[in-house]
This record gives sequence, C-alpha cells and structure tokens, in this order.
Amino acid sequence: EIEVLSIGELLIDFTPVGASANGKPIYEQNPGGAPANVAAALAKWGRATSMIARVGNDFFGEDLITTLENHYVDCSLISTDGDIPTTLAFVKLNAEGNRSFSFYRKPGADLMLRKEDIDKAYIKRCKILHFGSVSLTGGTSREATWHAVEQGIENSKIISFDPNIRELLWKDQDEMKEQIKKGLSKAHLVKMSDEELYFVTGEKELEKAAKLITDAYAIQLLIVTLGAEGSYYLFEEKTGFIQGYRVRATDTTGAGDVFWASVLHQLLEKISLLELQEKDIRNILQTANAVGALTTLKKGAIPSIPTLDEIEQFLHQHRTQMEDKV
Ligand code: ATP
Repeated sequence: EIEVLSIGELLIDFTPVGASANGKPIYEQNPGGAPANVAAALAKWGRATSMIARVGNDFFGEDLITTLENHYVDCSLISTDGDIPTTLAFVKLNAEGNRSFSFYRKPGADLMLRKEDIDKAYIKRCKILHFGSVSLTGGTSREATWHAVEQGIENSKIISFDPNIRELLWKDQDEMKEQIKKGLSKAHLVKMSDEELYFVTGEKELEKAAKLITDAYAIQLLIVTLGAEGSYYLFEEKTGFIQGYRVRATDTTGAGDVFWASVLHQLLEKISLLELQEKDIRNILQTANAVGALTTLKKGAIPSIPTLDEIEQFLHQHRTQMEDKV
C-alpha cells in the first residue's frame, strides 16, 4: 500500500551559502520541488510514499533520485528524459530568509512528464494524492497532472493541493488563475499562503477570503500559512488561528512543504477524515507550525526536514517553557 502519492516538479534549488572574494554569491546544490519536499518529509517520517516526476539524463537528475531514495521515497515512477535537462532554480534570500527565484527551465525535464508516466495501479493503491501548480504551468506535465487527479477522484482518493504559485513560470495570469481554481475545485485538502489566498480571491481580509474559497469549492479542510505568524484553518464552517513559534530563521525554503507534509502525516493517523474534529485540527497545526519553524533553521528544503525526535523535543521544550510562564 502507498499512503501518499506525490506528483509534480523534482528539481534543483541552488541556494546561496555565502559570497566569493569578489562579492558574488556561492550556491549550494539542493534537491527541491515542492511535491518532492512533501514526499521526502513523509517518507522520512515512515510513511509509504511514492513520487511521480521526470528529471533530465544528467547528474542533477541522478542526484535527485538518489536523494529521494535515501529518504525512502519510492522512485519507481520517476522517469528520465533523454533530451531535456533537469530544471534548475536559483534562489535569492533576503535578510529575513525570504526568497525569490530565477528558473532555468525553457522547458526543463519536469514539464516533460507525460500521461503515460501515470501508473493507474499506483493511484488505486494510494490513500492521498498530492499535487501543486508548477506542473500545471504548461508542457505535457499539465495534462499528466490532471490525468492523475481525475484517476484519483474516480478511485475515491483524498486529493491534496498546495498551489505554491510561482508567477514567473506562467506566461498568462488568467491561465494561471484558471488552472489554480480548477485545482481548488478538485481537492479535499488545500494549503495556501495568505498571499495566494489574496491572489485568488482579491480579498485582503483573511477570514473573508478563506470563506470565499470554501463557499466556492467543496474543500473539506483549508489551511492558510502565515509565515512566522503561524497558520489559520477553515474546517466545517469553524475557523481559528494557531500562533507560530519564534525561531531564528535562516532559509524558509521548503517550510511550507514540510509544514504541509506534517499535516498529511498527522491526518493519516486518522482512519477517516469524517472522524476529524476541530480540536484535532488545532493540535495538528500546533505540531505543523513547529515543523515549519524547524525547517527554517537550516539551508535548503530536504536537508532541513526535522526527524520525528527533533519535532517531539522541540514541542516538549516549548510546552515546558509555556508551563514555566504560567
Ligand atoms: P511556500 O513558500 O512553499 O509557499 P508557505 O508560504 O506556505 O510556503 P510559510 O508560511 O513560509 O509557507 O511557512 C509554513 C509554516 O512554517 C508557517 O505557517 C509557520 O508555521 C512556519 N514558519 C515559516 N516561517 C517561519 C518563521 N520565520 N518562524 C517560525 N515559523 C515559521
């Protein structure tokens, strides 16, 4: 059995780690791609996880597969493109650890994912199918992603969607909105950042914007990430905010993905989504906020995924501090 099947971009993030003598950035080669980060975290925590992706026939592609394998992700559905190289994304960090990107992908191998790469048997065997919007930006990966999602729906799978909007990768803003809205219309579990929520709804007020989304789509659980502030949920008409933890962030790459992996990991503990209660969601977000915070402490996404022990320790430490304050 597969617990989570993650589909989409698997690429290299070049993260700046310092400056050369002449003041130019020095980059570290880090495995990345949001759905890959989610898969790596879940597999590291013991979940049976498979990835559907396409890389180039180069040493970047090899490194990506090796990294995922080292995290116990099943890579049998990752294909290699003979012509198109692995996609590269250069990251620029500001003083707060927030980033912008420069993509080398015109096209890159991630866009070459094909419908034939989607193995129906895998979809039938999974519990949760997770996808994002980067594989919807164009190429054959768009059709492949929708094909996987449709198969997931036909087989009554739980569909998880994190739009992870990268405006630079879209030629046309209207098309971007249309594809993201289509994603929202197919998903049961959705994670968005506050900026993404604003972008999709045009509504600045968080509560109103979240409600617009859940009124328009049949989403069961909507989580909004708020960076260092924490996270917000809308579940069965109930809403709430869970405060984040104060840490010294050095690189927020992957924080949202690993945060979401933590939500999925905890949801998998439940036999069915139907038994979920608001108090469960609040507990889940308390832990996921800790996981997100821990992921910002190191550079890169996959290298920063905390272990279950580290998460437990962090939560324990913070609980003790809270008790000391009372
Ligand atoms: P993405 O960049 O993939 O879209 P995102 O914007 O959804 O990600 P963030 O809001 O950056 O994700 O982070 C996800 C979660 O991680 C937050 O909700 C919060 O709990 C935690 N987190 C992120 N940044 C920090 C920080 N600087 N300090 C403490 N916690 C943080």
